[in-house]
Amino acid sequence: MSDGITASDQPFYLKVENVDERLHVERWLAAIVESSDDAILGESLLGIITSWNAAATRIFGYEAEEAIGRPVSFLAWPGAEGQMESFLEKLRRGERVDHYEVARRHKSGRKIMVSLSLSAIMGPDGKIIGIAKIARDITERQIREQAMAEQGRLLHVLEEKESTSRAEMIAERKFRELIEHAPDAILQVDSTGSIVIANRTAETMFRYSREELMGNGVDMLVPDALRAGHAEHRRAFASAGATRPMGLGLDLLARRKDGTTFPVEISLSPIKTDGGVHVTAVIRDVTERKQTELRVRALQESYMTELEARQKEAERLNRLKSEFMASISHELRTPLHTIIGFAELLEEETGTTLSEKQRRFLHHIHTDSEHLLSLINDVLDLSRIEAGGLHLRAEALSLQEIIAESVNAIRPYADSKAISVREVGRLQVGVWADPTRLRQILYNLLSNGAKFTKSGGEVWVEAIVEGSSVKITVGDTGLGIPAEECVRIFDKFYQVGFTPVGVREGTGLGLAICKQLVEMQGGKIWVESEPRKGSRFHFTLPYSEL
Ligand code: ADP
Repeated sequence: MSDGITASDQPFYLKVENVDERLHVERWLAAIVESSDDAILGESLLGIITSWNAAATRIFGYEAEEAIGRPVSFLAWPGAEGQMESFLEKLRRGERVDHYEVARRHKSGRKIMVSLSLSAIMGPDGKIIGIAKIARDITERQIREQAMAEQGRLLHVLEEKESTSRAEMIAERKFRELIEHAPDAILQVDSTGSIVIANRTAETMFRYSREELMGNGVDMLVPDALRAGHAEHRRAFASAGATRPMGLGLDLLARRKDGTTFPVEISLSPIKTDGGVHVTAVIRDVTERKQTELRVRALQESYMTELEARQKEAERLNRLKSEFMASISHELRTPLHTIIGFAELLEEETGTTLSEKQRRFLHHIHTDSEHLLSLINDVLDLSRIEAGGLHLRAEALSLQEIIAESVNAIRPYADSKAISVREVGRLQVGVWADPTRLRQILYNLLSNGAKFTKSGGEVWVEAIVEGSSVKITVGDTGLGIPAEECVRIFDKFYQVGFTPVGVREGTGLGLAICKQLVEMQGGKIWVESEPRKGSRFHFTLPYSEL
């Protein structure tokens, strides 16, 4: 920045503080999302992933850079692509979609099971602009359920066996001990619903003694309100059931002797015996897990509420900022135009009324006012882009024409520094872009090229079609940029440390604006550079037929 302009002197810097405040809020929110144990994904209405937290990387195996911008369908497990359409309907009505279980594909190709909750992301006009998805990995839970089922099945194998040899009897005793000390309650129920086997954990879990359990109806372990239905389910399972978790997708409750209830997971396996079909149930008390789930859920909900409130506040601040910018732009620019106009008139004075020293002072007034004007224009542009107030009108454009106009605009400045400006190769190609904004990007890059190149050097533009994009390059033989600075130069107000005095009259905003404008038009911008040899700024735009 040029001399004499400091943050405290200029009222519009106050709004830059607001930007900081908003950034602070955004960073805080990002930290919450990042530290969540559940994957949190943002998704556009077209199904394109727009955000991706650390848990998503843990669960799906993809880094954020690999996932953002891709259609979410790349995570689908074949045959489990989802029912997005019907869910969208629900979300439009303002409802949430909670905990539906679906298979997904991990980066390694393995199948993972996730429980998804969806909520709509609303735009300021109350319409859905995207979807927030919270995904919890429940693969382990399923494996646990399968293991429980397996325990039950083994028990049956044992039951079926008519143990003849001594070795088998010893093996059987060991196995019975194993069952006795299993961390899950294990019950076997005969075809009439009477308990015929109960292990020790069943006693402690249900608080009945083994004598009280054995020979009694298993329905006494079912909460009163569910008992009638349970008897029915039990009969149906005994006649047709296969080994499986009970009440898939439901929250199951069991009843203790004192009538209190607690949440359980149950795996059932049927077995044919001489006395009809017996059913083994492996029962796990999941009170603690449910409590943790509830706590996580409550925490998540409070985060989401906080997030929404903060988002609204950030939007409000942003709107305030752009309104403020718009209202002061006129106030700042009008007197500045007057200063510049009169400075120009005075400089054109040919009489001898001005001394050499006065002329020098006048020149400073003129150039610094011009600088201030471009700084104001850049800050306004950027704040409009950031507040979402800049609307682009893309159309099919002849790149050649736009490049020619931009080159002509820069030529007087380049000539004044004896720098040649060239258009290289065939530029007769169509791009899909907003003409004013494309000119602005090219002008910024060309003027940087000319600014950071010594007399006798060269600046050039070229373009090539690459698939469905056009890559446009603005190159120069100037002072170049150290590798470690090549990303940061696209940040707001960033200028390379060693930029020589004299060419440091920029605002440090040009490239930040270019980056935003390119990205808003679906492209990317980057730089390749070698100190003292020159730089090549590349950006892409969608290709278009002319
Ligand atoms: P400025 O108004 O300072 O030019 P920009 O955002 O356009 O702001 O550029 C940021 C910084 O990047 C510049 O100050 C300069 O240090 C570096 N830079 C940009 N373009 C070039 C270039 N063609 N050659 C060397 N350095 C460059």
